[in-house]
Amino acid sequence: MKAFKATSADYDARIFSFREKDWTVSLTLLNGREHIKLDLGNYQRGKLKGRVPTSAQLCKHRDGSYYIHVQLKDETPEPIEAKKVIGVDLGRRDIAVTSEGDKWDGKQIQQVRDRFSKVRASLQAKASKGTRATRRRARQILQRLSGRERRFQQWLNHNISKAIILSALEHDAIIAIEDLTGIRDRTNQRPRNKTERRRSNSWAFFQLRMFLSYKSLKYGVELVAVNPAYTSQNCHVCYHIGLRSDKRFKCGNCGWHGDADLNGSFNIANLGAVVSRLRGSDTLSCDVQGYQKPPASAVG
Ligand SMILES: [Zn+2]
Repeated sequence: MKAFKATSADYDARIFSFREKDWTVSLTLLNGREHIKLDLGNYQRGKLKGRVPTSAQLCKHRDGSYYIHVQLKDETPEPIEAKKVIGVDLGRRDIAVTSEGDKWDGKQIQQVRDRFSKVRASLQAKASKGTRATRRRARQILQRLSGRERRFQQWLNHNISKAIILSALEHDAIIAIEDLTGIRDRTNQRPRNKTERRRSNSWAFFQLRMFLSYKSLKYGVELVAVNPAYTSQNCHVCYHIGLRSDKRFKCGNCGWHGDADLNGSFNIANLGAVVSRLRGSDTLSCDVQGYQKPPASAVG
């Protein structure tokens, strides 16, 4: 067995500090505390400026030189004071529909996908016959294409999530989406329809949700997840179960009719408002001691 020699050491706030004035770090080493000048480029200086990092890792290169990884934690901004809730219906028929009326439909992405799959089929045919060189070349192109398709989807998700966050910032709004944790377990117990199958299997759909959650943190927009039961069946005006046909929704009770996904996004926004209001009343009872909470019916 080979002897293992440690080549790195972890430093926390007790034994590590950074000084911007002369770009040095102070480290506790075997022979005591030492100030070491950092060899920095403009990029690193820009990143370190004004920061107070509290942890680092000292590493030793094979050639004997040392380098240091400094961990910078991004401080997330305080959530904005919300005036309204934007409901976002994700991945049902369209990629995303918001209660503000923004909509990204699947048409464009479907066209691109169809084109990819056509080219893929013809390349696969080439990859299975022909000379060894043709087969290898076809395989290479196939690999590159799958990377391109993935990056296209990622670019699209990045832009959609960004547009939704911008809309929330513009309207001082909270974002509400459906809580789909456990959708795989739940839906495996009974036959799933096409939409549910797509939602639970699609990495692109989960990527969009992930982008939304990390961007909401980054920009201080509150994101709430609501119970997805009935968000697509109920009328958002009177809460009666309505009729869905293809992309349309019609309420037999109050007569509201319109885009089915838009109705879904309104329901999600309504539920999001309830969730965030419940949370708001908790802070109220903490702030004001001895204050008698009015009955729920008196709260507007
Ligand atoms: Zn109705």
